[in-house]
Amino acid sequence: MRAGPPSRRRYARTGCNGLSRVPPPSLRASTPVVPRPRHDLGGDDGGTAVRLCAGGEVVLAAGALGSPQLLQLSGIGEPSTLEAAGVPVRCALPGVGEGLQDHPAVTVAFDSAIKDGMTEIKPWMPRVNVLSPWALYLWAVRGSGILSTTFCDHGAFVRSRPEVDREKPAAGRRGKGRAVAAGQHGKDGAVANLPDVQLRFVPGIGPAPDGVKAYELLGKGIQHANYGFTLQVINCRPKSSGAVRISSADPAVAPTIRCNYLAEPCDALALAQGIALARRLATSGALGEISLGEVYPGAHVQSAAEVETYIRRTLHSANGLSGGCCIGAVVDSVLRVHGVHGLRVADASVMPSIPGAQLALPTTMIAERAAKLIRKAEDASLVASGGSKAAMMQRRRASRSPTRRR
Ligand SMILES: Cc1cc2nc3c(=O)[nH]c(=O)nc-3n(C[C@H](O)[C@H](O)[C@H](O)COP(=O)(O)OP(=O)(O)OC[C@H]3O[C@@H](n4cnc5c(N)ncnc54)[C@H](O)[C@@H]3O)c2cc1C
Repeated sequence: MRAGPPSRRRYARTGCNGLSRVPPPSLRASTPVVPRPRHDLGGDDGGTAVRLCAGGEVVLAAGALGSPQLLQLSGIGEPSTLEAAGVPVRCALPGVGEGLQDHPAVTVAFDSAIKDGMTEIKPWMPRVNVLSPWALYLWAVRGSGILSTTFCDHGAFVRSRPEVDREKPAAGRRGKGRAVAAGQHGKDGAVANLPDVQLRFVPGIGPAPDGVKAYELLGKGIQHANYGFTLQVINCRPKSSGAVRISSADPAVAPTIRCNYLAEPCDALALAQGIALARRLATSGALGEISLGEVYPGAHVQSAAEVETYIRRTLHSANGLSGGCCIGAVVDSVLRVHGVHGLRVADASVMPSIPGAQLALPTTMIAERAAKLIRKAEDASLVASGGSKAAMMQRRRASRSPTRRR
């Protein structure tokens, strides 16, 4: 959580008192703002509790899990959730924590006739494997090998079914706490005119079909025996949504996180169609020339029921957590928390509907927009308090100076 007093003068003037309705959560070391081990904070161990107050606005940017958790720990959320966790209700806001979404993913992988790519990381290589002399040699001399790829550098966005294109868009709300833009979702959750499946090409094959588990095993030096390649199939516009809810007033206790992957049947259907397409791509054209046997799901997985079982058994996150403080349900269109003065949220948690690709850029866009909104609000408050336009411009120039940037 970052507090951003616009200037020392204003900090001194407003202190903690310039608040109306519910005050923003105070930044108090013994309160749930920054969960750290108790001995760091003092308190019980004889340390000193420090209370910090924001002179301007508080900007909460703890991510799709952290921001809703911190709001709830601060008494802002669904009363029944807060009461069950033993947190006094300061602002009843049922949407907090709701509308959590993620991109579910599965993999399709083949052994390959080309001995190149990620699989060349061998257990005998030193820990700095990507910088091993062999990797450097391949890249410098042949332009190939592990250093020639960022791993997910090729891919495609596709519609899982042709009818997605023709389905009539419907307006409405989807799930508690999540507002859906009119025209975005069609019947069966399909997204009108927009791709709902992303394929990511990885020049390697993991020791497990679950991408996250594969990383764990790779960390232990366990590898797939052969060279290979993988197509990761991501449902990039899932309809299912879940929630993040605290279960304790203790900030060190992790919240309960439920993404409800595949709760909507159309989400599994999109992945099944994506698997079928990935199989076709891997066994035809240029890839077909180098692909040997199918490793994941495996040639024995053919019927719709077998494919769905594979999806449910190996499903993993494509790292797209969003929602939980959705625009509309929790924050307004300028990211201010409903019913709380001086508190904004600016991170992936405000996304009312998960974007159809990776989230770093949309999150950066939200952050840049938040900065503009905050500056605009500060300018307006300066003018309202009698400040001149010249003073405003001077402050803006100062905030852009190299000294300030450092
Ligand atoms: C493994 C992985 C790989 C990814 N790869 C890509 C990619 O290739 N491309 C892409 O576009 N996106 C990628 N993403 C997604 C992208 O990183 C996130 O969507 C984006 O960072 C979200 O930004 P955020 O500000 O909402 O949250 P975060 O970036 O998670 O920032 C939240 C910050 O708040 C801090 N925090 C949380 N709770 C507290 C607390 N109580 N007190 C103090 N601080 C707290 C956290 O430590 C963190 O620093 C990836 C995500 C992961 C997890």
